[in-house]
Amino acid sequence: MSESLPIPLPSRLRLAHLPTPLQPLDRISERHSFPYGGPRIWVKRDDLTESGMSGNKLRKLEFVAAEALGQECDTLITCGGVQSNHCRTTALVGARLGFKVHLLLRGERDAAIDGNLLLDHLAGADVTIYPPSEYAGNLGRIFTHWRERYTALGRRAFCIPTGASDGLGIWGYLAASMELMQDCRAQGFVPDHIVCATGSGGTQAGLTLGCQLLEVESRVTGYAVCDNAAYFQNKVREDIRHWVDLTECSVDLASLTINVNANYMGPGYGEAGPEVYQTINKVANLEGLLLDPVYTGKAFHGLLQELGKGRYSGCSNLVFVHSGGQFALFPHRDNFSFSGV
Ligand SMILES: *Cc1c(COP(=O)(O)O)cnc(C)c1O
Repeated sequence: MSESLPIPLPSRLRLAHLPTPLQPLDRISERHSFPYGGPRIWVKRDDLTESGMSGNKLRKLEFVAAEALGQECDTLITCGGVQSNHCRTTALVGARLGFKVHLLLRGERDAAIDGNLLLDHLAGADVTIYPPSEYAGNLGRIFTHWRERYTALGRRAFCIPTGASDGLGIWGYLAASMELMQDCRAQGFVPDHIVCATGSGGTQAGLTLGCQLLEVESRVTGYAVCDNAAYFQNKVREDIRHWVDLTECSVDLASLTINVNANYMGPGYGEAGPEVYQTINKVANLEGLLLDPVYTGKAFHGLLQELGKGRYSGCSNLVFVHSGGQFALFPHRDNFSFSGV
């Protein structure tokens, strides 16, 4: 195992409160893992990176915002679903650093001002909502339109892709891999498995490449919240290839193992079956830990099912990366059912 990455980190703004805590989930382990011969379950609390800016996107934006400042940009344009955590984080980061922020959101124009969308507005971001039929297949054109519009106004816009997942954004979880290995070392173990929710692929790409570069044996698995396994195999590899192009660091791309479990995405992005809401309820009850309905609730539900099938039996320690997303609990309020209420 190596203590640090083979190349220095690029410029970075300190926005997140790091390191985030690494905590054991012993009541979960006792009920859902040990009876099946499974590992002790730990959670890396990346939902605690900040308050409004909470979650995994802040780690990526530390590098992305530094690059935008380096290029003397004054405007950030990014995109996502109408309840995007990435867009909400970008809106708040932009406000903190003095950027104008424009969000291109996929959804219905009369979407409720709730959850992340409420925070986008509080942060003063400009918001343009595109119905899914207009958004799909036109995103490149939409970005170009707005970038040119800002240029005509004498501004300089920096475009951030979905989820800040590209060769620049994955620095967030390369740096996080180092941090996580230090946390685990302090607890006296090297994790057998690292599990995360995967949506635009950058978190999984950073963790996967991080483990390879740090020469640790930990196996990284992304639980897909949308799309299929082939999509993420491709996307994660593409992000890593982009990073290699930018850094010219030599990486054996052929030997990278990308593990995707796409069996628990349910009906699609942002939609989940009752079992996911029950898991969110159970984990809040057992551990006081809040998962979200779009990403971590689905991934954790999938993890519990796989533990029950003995998939992780014989392992000692598994780390679940909690990537945040709790503001989406509120717009999903009607999907929970509480007995006795
Ligand atoms: C974006 C997001 C993810 C997925 O991370 P990617 O890097 O986009 O794959 C997981 N959890 C939460 C809460 C997110 O907002």
